[in-house]
Formats: sequence, structure tokens, C-alpha cells
Amino acid sequence: MTDAIDTRGLKKRYRKVEALRGLDLAVPKGSICGFLGPNGAGKTTTIRILMGLSRPSEGWAAILGNDIGNNELGTRSRIGYLPQHPSFFPRAEVRDVLRFAAKCYLSGPASQIRTRIDEILDLVGLDNRADRQVKNLSGGELRRLGIGQAVIGDPDLLILDEPFVGLDPEGRREVLDLLSDLRGQMTVFYSSHILDDVQRVADHVVIVDHGMVVDQGPMNLFLGGATATYAVALDGDGGAVIDRLGNEPWVQTTRSTGSGTWEVETGDRTSAEHGLLRALASGNGTRVTELRPLQRNLEDIYLDLVEETNDD
Ligand code: ATP
Repeated sequence: MTDAIDTRGLKKRYRKVEALRGLDLAVPKGSICGFLGPNGAGKTTTIRILMGLSRPSEGWAAILGNDIGNNELGTRSRIGYLPQHPSFFPRAEVRDVLRFAAKCYLSGPASQIRTRIDEILDLVGLDNRADRQVKNLSGGELRRLGIGQAVIGDPDLLILDEPFVGLDPEGRREVLDLLSDLRGQMTVFYSSHILDDVQRVADHVVIVDHGMVVDQGPMNLFLGGATATYAVALDGDGGAVIDRLGNEPWVQTTRSTGSGTWEVETGDRTSAEHGLLRALASGNGTRVTELRPLQRNLEDIYLDLVEETNDD
């Protein structure tokens, strides 16, 4: 299956700044993909290139299987886009904004278009704000209107640049819920700094730094991967059991965390799942009182990866 977004060796130079230095991106079709990276990593530059708003200096990119260099209208019409700073005519009413977007994306009888606008108002939770002027909307409502406008043409791919920025927790939650509702209907690719939100709603992650992909993959592999760390508590002569455990090929380190408690880091989750409990229970007169995987969150992993690239 072709990816929804595919880039190879994408480079972008602005005079002295190398904003992208050979970006290889792969966003699977149907995923909700969080695009992460520190300030200046190249996220907006990437999105602008994908949207045809800026040209790459080198490299190649395809959206929905079509080379962006061809700039086909057919492909463009299958993409919804919410820029970092969307602008609306402040005195326009919500329904008018959607009506205008519908004119750009939809054709067909007026009644069908009215139905679609009602569907979108319902989807983005603005049905009770349809007659309100844009200038009187909250930040979260404005962002949801922007998403409504972007999805009115039922795109296959929705690209959003920092959809949570500047929103309070309630506004963020509303936008998160909306992105979750789009799962299964289209591929969603969005940049964000709010790792907690990405962990909640994305099922695929791309991390960029200094214009290159540092890591990318499914969220579950990101959070777990092959390595896993376990908290262990033993009654009895636990020290001897832990020393023996340290000889297993799938154990990377063991560390005492207190009296009768340890952290065991394993490099092979599957072997650990099969062998850890058995190995711990093998000590004569020792009893396993706790065995618990320690889950790292996306923020820990992100910070490690970005620090690693800064050290290189
Ligand atoms: P942020 O999270 O702060 O929005 P970002 O990851 O989106 O950052 P970009 O906006 O893509 O990063 O910027 C990448 C690099 O390119 C930065 O060093 C930025 O200063 C530079 N840059 C971006 N646009 C231009 C431009 N038009 N002219 C010159 N340099 C630019």
C-alpha cells in the first residue's frame, strides 16, 4: 500500500539556512500521524512544501501516490489543509465560511450542499454557532471551524499545522476529540509541540530535528519498542536471583531501587515476557511480590531522541 505522504531526500535552503537537510518521511494511509520537533526543526517548511506553497531545493515528495511536482488539481482536491494561522473574514458568519468553502470543493444541487454544511456544523460541534460572526468565536471554536472548512470536501488527507497552539485545555480537548472522530475517515497529519496530546490521539509518530527525521513509526512501537523496563520486588534472597537474571542474554541492566526492589531493563520484550517471571520465581525461598512494566511516555522518548541528535 502506498503511503499517504512519502518524501525522499527533501531539502530546502533559505539563503544561509538549511531548513530541510534530506527529509525521508513515510506517513501510512489511514493513520493519525503526529509530526513533532523542536522550534525551527522544519515542520512548517515541510508542510508548506507538501501543500505546494513552497518549492523544495532538492528531493522528491508524493502525496496520495502522486508526485507533488506535477501539482495535479485532482490530488490537491483530495487534501484538506489548516495552516498555522488561518484567517477568516471577522464579520462573516460561521455558516457563510462553510458555504464559501463548499463552493470551492463541492458541486451538485444546492440542497445537497446545504446538507453537507449541516453535517460539518454537527461534526465540528458548531451547529449552535452557525449564525455567529467569526469575530465572536472562542479560539477552540475558530480552530474547529478551520477544520470544518478543511474537511468539507471529504478529503483523503488532512494536514494541520499546529492545531492546538494557543488553545486552553478545553479548546485543546475539543480539537483532540474532533481529530479522533476523523479516525478511519481520512489520513490526518498534524504538527504539534504538545506531546501529551499527540500521545493521546496519534497512532503514528514522526520526530524531526535540524531538518531531518530522527525517528518515525507506529505509536505502540515508539512507546514500547523492543526494550522494556520492569519494576521487580522480591521477598527473601532477591539479590542472588537478580545476579543470575543479569546473565540472561535478553537482560540489559539490573538496578537496585531500594530494599528488595529492582528495575530490570530488557532488550527483547518478547523474551522478557516469556522468561522474566520464570527466572524471578526460580530462587529457592524467594517470592515475587511485584512485577510491573514501567511505561515511558512520548515526552521521555522525544527528549531522549532530540538530545541525542544535539549531542552528535
Ligand atoms: P516552529 O515549531 O517554531 O514553528 P518549525 O519546525 O515549523 O518551527 P520552520 O518554520 O519550518 O520550523 O523553520 C525551519 C528553519 O527555517 C528555521 O531555522 C527558520 O528560521 C527557517 N526559515 C523558515 N522559513 C524561512 C524563510 N522564509 N526564510 C528564511 N528562513 C526561514
